[in-house]
Amino acid sequence: MEPVVVVGAGLAGYTVAREMRKLNREIPLILVAADSAHFYPKPQLSTALATKKLPEQLPQADAEQMSAQLGAPVRANVTVTGIDTAGATLQLGDEALRYSSLVLALGADQITIPVGGDAADAVVTVNDLADYGKFRGLIDGARHVTIIGGGLIGCEFANDLIAGGHGVAVVDTADWPLSRLVPAEAGTFRQKALAGLGVDWFLSNAVAAVDRAADGRLRVRLAGGEEFASDVVLSAVGLRPRTALASAAGIVTNRGIVVDSHLRTSAENVYALGDCAEIDGLVMPYVLPIMHSARALAATLTGAPTQTVFPPMPVMIKTPACPTIVATPPVGVAGAWNAGVTEEGVRALYVATDGTLAGFALLGNASKERAALTKQLGSAA
Ligand SMILES: Cc1cc2nc3c(=O)[nH]c(=O)nc-3n(C[C@H](O)[C@H](O)[C@H](O)COP(=O)(O)OP(=O)(O)OC[C@H]3O[C@@H](n4cnc5c(N)ncnc54)[C@H](O)[C@@H]3O)c2cc1C
Repeated sequence: MEPVVVVGAGLAGYTVAREMRKLNREIPLILVAADSAHFYPKPQLSTALATKKLPEQLPQADAEQMSAQLGAPVRANVTVTGIDTAGATLQLGDEALRYSSLVLALGADQITIPVGGDAADAVVTVNDLADYGKFRGLIDGARHVTIIGGGLIGCEFANDLIAGGHGVAVVDTADWPLSRLVPAEAGTFRQKALAGLGVDWFLSNAVAAVDRAADGRLRVRLAGGEEFASDVVLSAVGLRPRTALASAAGIVTNRGIVVDSHLRTSAENVYALGDCAEIDGLVMPYVLPIMHSARALAATLTGAPTQTVFPPMPVMIKTPACPTIVATPPVGVAGAWNAGVTEEGVRALYVATDGTLAGFALLGNASKERAALTKQLGSAA
C-alpha cells in the first residue's frame, strides 16, 4: 500500500500526523519537509526574549525524535518540487514518491514590500525557527529595531523587543495598530499602552528607504519625511499562503489552496490545511483552526470522512503590556463596532445588523470577559 504523504512539518503537518496515529498506527505515513523539521511552537518566536528563551531552546523535538514518536519517516531538508496528481506521485528533485493520499501543509510566506535605499536588502522577516535564529544574531547588541507593520506579529515583536531592552519604532500605513482586526478605539488604546513602554509609532506612514550610514548603522527614511538611526529593520506586513506548488500541478488556488470543509482540494486524494489553505473561502493562519482541521482530516485519512466544523476561535495577542483577545467578525457579515473605552481597557463588540454578536475585541481588563463572550458568539452562530 502506498503511504499517506504529508508535505510540511510545521504545526499543521505534525498535528495531522499525530492525530492520525491516535486513530491508526498501521497506515504507512511519510512526512517530507523543506526545513529541519524540528517541532517547535511558532507563536513563541515573538515572545522568546521576554521569556528568556534562546532559539535553540524552542524546539521540543527534532526530526528523528518526531519520526520515532510517529512511527513514520520524517524526511527533513527535502523539498517537494512537483506533484503529478494523475499519477499520484510527488517529485522530490530527481526522486519520485508515490502516495495514496497527499496532505499539503506548506505554510505561508511573509509578504515583503519594496523599500528603497542602499541597504534595502538588510530588511529581514521572521517566519520560522531558522529566520528567528538569524534575527537573534542580528539584534544581539542592537540598540534599536524598526518594525514595518503594526499587526498581530508586529505588535508582539514590539512588546517583546522593548521588554528585551531594545529601542523600537513601528511604522504602519494604517491609522491605528491591528487595523485589520479591531476598531480605531481598540487600536489607539493598544498604541498608547505600547508607547507607555517606549515604542515610537509612525502611523499613516511607510518606510521609503533604508540606507547604510557612515557609522555602520542603518538610516531609516519614512514617506512622511522623518529619518532616524536603527540597527535592524524587521518586516511584518502579512502572510501569503504558499500556493505555487499546488497551482503548478493544476490544483485550484485562490488566496490559498482551495479546499472544502473536508479539506479536499480539486485533485483526487489531495488535501490541504494550515496557513497554506483557503477553507470554504477563508484563510485562517492561526493555531486553533489548525487543531480543528487536523482532527477532522486525520479521521478522513483513516477511513471516516469528516467535515471540519469551526467553533468561535478568538485569538490572543501576546502583548503583556496590553492583553488583547480578538474574535474577528466573519467576512461578509454586515454590522458595526460599538466600543466602550475606560482607563483600564476597551470592550468592543461587533454587532450584526440582525442584532446578534458577530465578533469582539477585548483589551486590558476587559479581556476577562473572553469566556462569556465566546460562549455568546457560539450560541449566535
Ligand atoms: C511570530 C509568530 C507568532 C504567532 N503567534 C500566534 C499566536 O499567538 N496564536 C495563533 O493562533 N497563531 C500564531 N501564529 C500563527 C501560527 O504560528 C501559524 O498559523 C502556524 O504555526 C502555521 O503552521 P503551518 O504548519 O501551517 O505552517 P508552517 O509552520 O510554516 O510549516 C510549513 C512547512 O511546510 C514546509 N514546506 C513548504 N514548502 C515545502 C515544499 N515545497 N517541500 C517540502 N516542504 C515544504 C516547510 O518547510 C514547513 O515545514 C504566529 C505566527 C508567527 C510567525
